[in-house]
Amino acid sequence: MSSFTDVMEDSIAEADEEIYGLIRGELSRQRTQIELIASENFVPTAILEAMGSVLSNKYAEGYPHRKYYGGCEFVERIEEIAIERVKALFGADHANVQPHSGSTANQAAYFSVMEPGDTMLSMRLDHGGHLSHGHPINFTGKMYKIAAYGVNEETETIDYDNLARLARENRPKVIVAGASAYPRTIDFKRFREIADETGAILVTDMAHIAGLVAGGAHANPTQYSDFVTSTTHKTLRGPRGAFVLCGENFAKDLDRTVFPGIQGGPLLPAIAGKAVCFKLASEPSFKEYARRVVKNASVLAEALKERGFRLVSGGTDNHMMLVDLRPKTLTGKLGQQLLHEAGITSNKNAIPFDPENPMVTSGLRFGTAAITTRGMTEKEMVILADAINDVLSAPGDKSIREATRAKMTDLCLAFPLYGKL
Ligand code: PLP
Repeated sequence: MSSFTDVMEDSIAEADEEIYGLIRGELSRQRTQIELIASENFVPTAILEAMGSVLSNKYAEGYPHRKYYGGCEFVERIEEIAIERVKALFGADHANVQPHSGSTANQAAYFSVMEPGDTMLSMRLDHGGHLSHGHPINFTGKMYKIAAYGVNEETETIDYDNLARLARENRPKVIVAGASAYPRTIDFKRFREIADETGAILVTDMAHIAGLVAGGAHANPTQYSDFVTSTTHKTLRGPRGAFVLCGENFAKDLDRTVFPGIQGGPLLPAIAGKAVCFKLASEPSFKEYARRVVKNASVLAEALKERGFRLVSGGTDNHMMLVDLRPKTLTGKLGQQLLHEAGITSNKNAIPFDPENPMVTSGLRFGTAAITTRGMTEKEMVILADAINDVLSAPGDKSIREATRAKMTDLCLAFPLYGKL
């Protein structure tokens, strides 16, 4: 019997050969390349099925039992289940599972409590923050006054004393905790204390670490935060989408902000995928997965250090690490390109106090969420460190990249993805 996904592919093949070919190409790329992008993962086929289901046909504006359309008896139950599961998973009073993306989830949290012109204190983008935390060309940078905190130049970890000073000076309406490129544990209790002292609302964006939080491998921000926002597609290993958690005090404002404030009809296939994701993330095997993600990251980080790489902050506590390529006299842009040619996918990333411009950068960001899903363990992390070192130590030697690419394909084939090739 062919799987649901195969049935879908057959239909695409008939309707649109060009797109079918490209999807097959992407499947093959995912199967045969080492995925080190820290924000990516491989979802279970159960979630692919939910995402490709007939739920795509349905409109369901509004919230369960208050929907604006008829025929919502099944989809509102799906949404209710997703809400109950995510509340239980993270220990929240209230959840909205409709945000289409992480940026929209952040927008929903900000719009619930901020007016244009208010001040937001968030992490500098070039120290690890996200665009939706205040970049000048993002809506946040245009609508709000941004005060930004960063890391200490020596330790390369969040400078909490400086954060407290900035909060006292700027009196922000909102403080944002959370980052896209920060390899260390975040002290949410400290953030709460600073927010309380200065009368700020604390929004924690746990997009990157949500899976680690769900699996008990990182402290849970929920009890300390007024809002918690997250994507579902990174370490949480769910569909492309997002959610927001908050206390009952902000529940009405949040729901009104998401719909009708900034979105129309929810993406029901994604909400079903989120429900499945939350169920899987509450199972004991997900705890083991989260533990392995962190273990693999620390083994990869140590192995890279042993091979002469400098890691920002000296290592990692979570699923990601930032490699400073300056000692290798390489830029992030070139490093990304060389590894790509060798079958290893990663992304260039600014490191704190980076002398290069954001399109070039001095760093590479690696994450272990996706390769751990494939089943790779400590042994493979050492193989990967060797491969990365071989490629980045010989930028002029194309034959090393070709040989590494063949090795990486073989390694991938030993950890099959979505069935056999
Ligand atoms: N928040 C953080 C911390 C992120 O790292 C990202 C994406 O990388 C986002 C928000 C935005 O998520 P999306 O790409 O779904 O808008």
